[in-house]
Amino acid sequence: TIPAVLPGVHPILRKNARAHCYKDGTKTPEQLISDVFRNRVESIDHDQCDAGDEDAFFVADLGEVYRQHIRWKMNLKRVKPFYAIKCNPDPQVVRLLAELGTGFDCASKNEIQQVLDMGIDPSRIIYAQPCKTKSYVRYAAKMGVRKMTFDNPDELYKTKQFFPEAELFLRIATDDTSSLCRLSLKFGASLDCTRSLLELAKQLGLNVVGVSFHVGSGASDPNAFLKAVRDSRAVFDQASEVGFSMAILDVGGGFCSDLFEPMACVLSQALDDYFPPNIRVIGEPGRYYVASAFTLACNVIARRTIEDATTQTSAYMLYLNDGIYGNFTSIMFDHQHPVPRILRCGKRFLHGSEASEKYGTGPATVYSIWGPTCDGIDLIVEKAEFPEVIDIGDWIYFEEMGGLYTLALFLVLLNREFPLKPMVRVAYTKCSATRFNGFTDNHEVLYVSSEPGAAALLGFD
Ligand code: PLP
Repeated sequence: TIPAVLPGVHPILRKNARAHCYKDGTKTPEQLISDVFRNRVESIDHDQCDAGDEDAFFVADLGEVYRQHIRWKMNLKRVKPFYAIKCNPDPQVVRLLAELGTGFDCASKNEIQQVLDMGIDPSRIIYAQPCKTKSYVRYAAKMGVRKMTFDNPDELYKTKQFFPEAELFLRIATDDTSSLCRLSLKFGASLDCTRSLLELAKQLGLNVVGVSFHVGSGASDPNAFLKAVRDSRAVFDQASEVGFSMAILDVGGGFCSDLFEPMACVLSQALDDYFPPNIRVIGEPGRYYVASAFTLACNVIARRTIEDATTQTSAYMLYLNDGIYGNFTSIMFDHQHPVPRILRCGKRFLHGSEASEKYGTGPATVYSIWGPTCDGIDLIVEKAEFPEVIDIGDWIYFEEMGGLYTLALFLVLLNREFPLKPMVRVAYTKCSATRFNGFTDNHEVLYVSSEPGAAALLGFD
């Protein structure tokens, strides 16, 4: 039987889960999310609640993940997505994508286990880590996860020893200079050594089935895909000279929501130009699927005013109950600049695109916003301007900013360069939170679905 609501749904919503499904079209996804925030935040009595009841929390709209999947299928028909779960291994996201038929890119034993434990067939997993732990290779062999990547001779010897039947993908380096996180600094064989790697694999009797690449996470130049596909073609040709008949190309991740259509357009054209239809194509999108689906709410736990007697100015500091050691690791690891917005100020609830109309008319105050740990590096936003005076107990939220797509498409039409650095949130955030200073690394997620299709697959209804 299908459960009435998702197991992770907060008890407050459990009573009334149907109301949170965007089924009758009466609510926009934003209104749906607003309702969840309002219910949750208004249920907390800050003067009476148990320690931690006011912890930061996420609202995840799984309908957004569903829409991203439809968008992928419309624009990249040839590419089967293998969701990179490192980005956000949220169990409901993985469950939804499993239902939607995607594969999964796993980077470790635990990620493989998480996917297998959900009953997903090992053939739907690629162990996309070119430098693997020996015992993990043995684990993959035992569990029948055959697809894996390599980029160096040692990895071939390791595979020969522990999993000679593996289906290997030769990961090649790319030009990832336009990306936020450059992965080819660490992984990927250069075209100078791909032939010798293929020859060694042949000599060892291994089975190389394809090529993989990654243009860098948070890529902003669609042409990076064109160059990488072209290089992959050259490696396919080398492989057939060495005696392999490669059948799969893995185009990796690097897709951003804001630039997705231009990227998909360039990639699809390159695939058609360089690879005949009998070559299977897979991808490893991560942040593309989840970045816009998660919104984070944080509570203001303290504030300070610093008076500068010399300049006769004041600086206002806010302290939230989440910071760079928690869900804002993306500031350090993912080069992000989260944008704070007021969720609740006093008794007024201000979430949503029309909230600014409800803002006060007083002079704007500039705040610096800090996390809860003792470390001075724990700074979330250096300068945030609010038209309201923020007090202890108020709530601030952070969501994906988006809005660059139209400009990106315009630049594509003009055949111009892409100087844009896409802004993305939350992906690579919860998954890399720490317990530094004793704070939790596992903040609550309240799930909603703004798409009936996702709701039905997940048993919302
Ligand atoms: N595949 C591999 C091998 C990766 O290392 C990563 C990210 O680090 C991804 C896929 C996902 O990349 P993105 O989130 O940019 O789509």
